[in-house]
Amino acid sequence: MRFDVLTIFPDLLTSPLGEGIIKRAIFDRKIDVRLHDIRQYAVDKQAMTDDRPFGGGEGMVMKPEPISACLAAVRNEAPAGHVVLLSQQGRAYNQQVAEELAAREHLILLCGRYEGVDDRVRALYVDEEISIGDYILTGGELAAMILIDSVTRLLPGVLGCAESATQDTFSRGLLKHPQYTRPREFEGLAVPEVLFSGDHAAIAEWRLVASVRATIERRPELLGQVRFSKQEWKILARHGLQERARMLGAGMQEKAAS
Ligand code: SAM
Repeated sequence: MRFDVLTIFPDLLTSPLGEGIIKRAIFDRKIDVRLHDIRQYAVDKQAMTDDRPFGGGEGMVMKPEPISACLAAVRNEAPAGHVVLLSQQGRAYNQQVAEELAAREHLILLCGRYEGVDDRVRALYVDEEISIGDYILTGGELAAMILIDSVTRLLPGVLGCAESATQDTFSRGLLKHPQYTRPREFEGLAVPEVLFSGDHAAIAEWRLVASVRATIERRPELLGQVRFSKQEWKILARHGLQERARMLGAGMQEKAAS
């Protein structure tokens, strides 16, 4: 998958792209990330990428011409990229949106700065606007990096264990169960006994129940989208969680059509 990032601060992304799973994904050619400095496409001698807003007011606005020229250079090489403007006014980013984006072959990520980009850029070139949350960043670069990070780990072969991403919090609408490692006891708190039992069914049951409990306690609104199998539904009943889950909107999976 290819990502092109259009920014006036490309260096902001170099460190996060050079560590851990993302670094390895680039090395293994699972992803190709290209950083473009919009300033190099500025049309005037001072390499201006921003100017004062028409109508007055605070701050500066990113000029359309350098962005347009930078985008044209990317499109010249790869015409079919999906253009995403990182924007506080965009569609709320979540795991489902990450999964949608992971199905694409090429994303062009446009990072705003200052008061944002001239609105004609949005009107002419942007396929969608994405917000990473209801707060204001100084620029779109960290948001772009979050998108690259979360999409990359969904791509086939990127995570060591193929199961990892499907077991994640949010992938089926539940928070993930708690995890423990050595030591067995820490500051008087012991790891639940069942995890040493070697009984895979009992461990799976404990994990499901812990996952549903955590979701009920911390993010009850998520349960409205969750559909449990018949067997899971029975387990929840056994642990006194079925009624609560039902009240929060959880249900049973439809029978697969034969
Ligand atoms: N003055 C603008 C407003 O109040 O709507 C905020 C502009 S913000 C300081 C500059 C840039 O940061 C935006 O153009 C956008 O690219 C990026 N940005 C800020 N918050 C964001 C968010 N929550 N998600 C994605 N991008 C964001």
